[in-house]
Amino acid sequence: MNFPIIDLHCDVLYKYEQQEVDFMNAPQLDVNLQNLRGGNVKVQAFAIFINPKIAKVEKIKSALRQLYYFKTYVVRPENKIVHIKNWSDIERLQDGEIGAVLTIEGVDFLEGDIKMWHLFREFGVLSIGLTWNNANEAADGVEEDLGRGVTAFGREIIQLNNKHKVLTDVSHLSEKSFWDVMELADYAIASHSNAKALCSHRRNLNDEQIKAMVAKNAPIHIVYFPMFIVEEGEATLAHLIKHIDHICALGGKNLIGLGSDFDGIDRKVINLENASKHPNLLKELLKYYSEDEVRGFAYQNFLNHLPK
Ligand SMILES: [Zn+2]
Repeated sequence: MNFPIIDLHCDVLYKYEQQEVDFMNAPQLDVNLQNLRGGNVKVQAFAIFINPKIAKVEKIKSALRQLYYFKTYVVRPENKIVHIKNWSDIERLQDGEIGAVLTIEGVDFLEGDIKMWHLFREFGVLSIGLTWNNANEAADGVEEDLGRGVTAFGREIIQLNNKHKVLTDVSHLSEKSFWDVMELADYAIASHSNAKALCSHRRNLNDEQIKAMVAKNAPIHIVYFPMFIVEEGEATLAHLIKHIDHICALGGKNLIGLGSDFDGIDRKVINLENASKHPNLLKELLKYYSEDEVRGFAYQNFLNHLPK
């Protein structure tokens, strides 16, 4: 069974900040054209992520360079990769074409200026996580909780996201920021998070958070990073599937999707090392779930919950 894959998170663009390699087949990239095709990936999200340690003036430059890498190396006609600028563009993908979605992981580089939101929407951004782990002008992140939750600027971003059908991503938010987003966002998503009940990493969602996502009909895309799957030792496909089981048990079966975090992770699940390996996960899932259910996890659930 070779279902198409929709993967809501990878960090290729940030990797290009270290080294400009060939997107075609560079072995340094988990997500390259060869691996996308090998894994039957139909839609891949590419995050703009800014290292929080770089100087403030460098942040917008880093974001713009990542936009350049996206346009120069990824979205090329000869790659048959099409930039998805509106959700409805996914329906128009032809056989053999791959859709590329531009997302933001942490709005530090907007520097509190809402005009920058409009500019990056113009560039085609369709999903925004207000923070990475650190706090910024918009919200507190999971490693820097200043007790503010989502700020006035963050609220302004979420209102615009709602109006323009941009997803608001809760992965990486502090707990208070998460609950604020639950209240404010029309289109919430966890693009790459697992279940805290099975692996108590702060990046994972606790049961109350998962139930709130389910109540809101918000997609939860599981992440392939071993640190978020098992508390110690190597992570296997079976370990990852336990997170899917858990989210299903909390009512999320129709909301589960994939958010690999490829190129943002230095350790891998065994047999899930790069984008060509997604089918190994589907094959394992088919031992426990019906074809329809696995099709849902691979791509259909996400399509069913797109902003209308
Ligand atoms: Zn991340």
